[in-house]
Amino acid sequence: MWRGERRIRVLVVDDEEGFRQTLAKRLEKRGAVVKQACEGQAALRSLDLESVDVVLLDVKMPGMDGLSALERIRKQHPNTEVILVTGQACTQDGVAGIKAGAFDYLSKPIEIEQLISKIRQAFDKLVRQQEQAQEAQFRSRMEQQLVATERLASLGTLAAGVAHEVNNPLAIINQFTGWLIDKVAKDDSMSPQTRAALDMGLGKIEKNIQRAKRITHQLLSFARQNDAVIKEFDLCAIASDVVELTRKTALDRNATVNCICAEPKIMLWSDPYQLRQVVVNMVSNGLQAVEPGGVVNLTVGGDKEHAEVLVKDDGPGIAPENLERIFEPFFTTKPPGQGTGLGLSVSKGIIEKLGGRIEVESELGSGALFRVTLPRKPLAGPEKADTNRMQRGEQ
Ligand code: ADP
Repeated sequence: MWRGERRIRVLVVDDEEGFRQTLAKRLEKRGAVVKQACEGQAALRSLDLESVDVVLLDVKMPGMDGLSALERIRKQHPNTEVILVTGQACTQDGVAGIKAGAFDYLSKPIEIEQLISKIRQAFDKLVRQQEQAQEAQFRSRMEQQLVATERLASLGTLAAGVAHEVNNPLAIINQFTGWLIDKVAKDDSMSPQTRAALDMGLGKIEKNIQRAKRITHQLLSFARQNDAVIKEFDLCAIASDVVELTRKTALDRNATVNCICAEPKIMLWSDPYQLRQVVVNMVSNGLQAVEPGGVVNLTVGGDKEHAEVLVKDDGPGIAPENLERIFEPFFTTKPPGQGTGLGLSVSKGIIEKLGGRIEVESELGSGALFRVTLPRKPLAGPEKADTNRMQRGEQ
């Protein structure tokens, strides 16, 4: 008894050993995988050890009878169908069994062809149920994804609007702060204490303008993930740029960034500016995570088809419950004012738009490893050619 690639698994439960053995042999001859049990309790123990598709269950047995066993099987093994076997004059037991969830019942003496056909029907019902469950699961996943995509799209529009609105007053504050700094520097009439206090206050304003600018910049990148400018460029050059761009953060943190290029040049077609933004973000995250004296290794390499960027740090790693969430927009574990929670979600958007993947591996206590994989050739297909502007030449 085969269904596709699979042999149907049957458990024959009957206290009459001769009857059970004969039935088992005949079913095995027809291709079923058969197990045997002599009463209800033994059947349940066998099912706990290894599940089957169909149980052939005698109703009248010493110990736990068939109907009680049926109740337990339906509860504990919902993916197993039960066919009851009743004595000739006991069809009412069969009817009660169907009411209690049995697939069907057969009366002794059993006609083997009829039994095989019933087992096949019971197995087909199981397969149908499994397919329906998978379909329902798939549908619910798709619905969740759709909701998340729609939410992200409206979040993107909102983010861009807010960033734009905040940028204008920010530019004015920035301009007048510069003017004030200049004024204070040129004013000879104030006391050293007043000058020191003004310098300190203005310095704080400047620092926070820069922070606000970084946030609006990230919000705008979040909304602008479509504008890729595709060129051919050397990934090793990007890696060196990133080391330069993160030098000050590394110094402040008393940490080191090592840059390792697998080949002298790693050429690929992609968006160098957006990729640089992603790598800066991963390296900065690594630098923020490590202890003083910590190390972030930036390795670039790949194969003929793909380029790869690895950013590995020896910081505290990422808690398992956060691993799933770090790519969500606005997810951050950094103190208020220090993290926007946008870096990785923007990075994921960029890399996926460029046809690549961004992945993370981490265990608490052994640092984090971020891996970006990108195709070396430009993405084919009319829709990509339209959305991504292509330019040839070195950046
Ligand atoms: P932000 O840095 O503003 O918090 P990100 O999206 O860049 O936003 O990162 C989200 C979160 O991912 C961080 O708050 C942090 O919890 C976690 N994370 C990212 N990189 C690392 C890393 N290298 N080590 C430990 N945690 C990290």
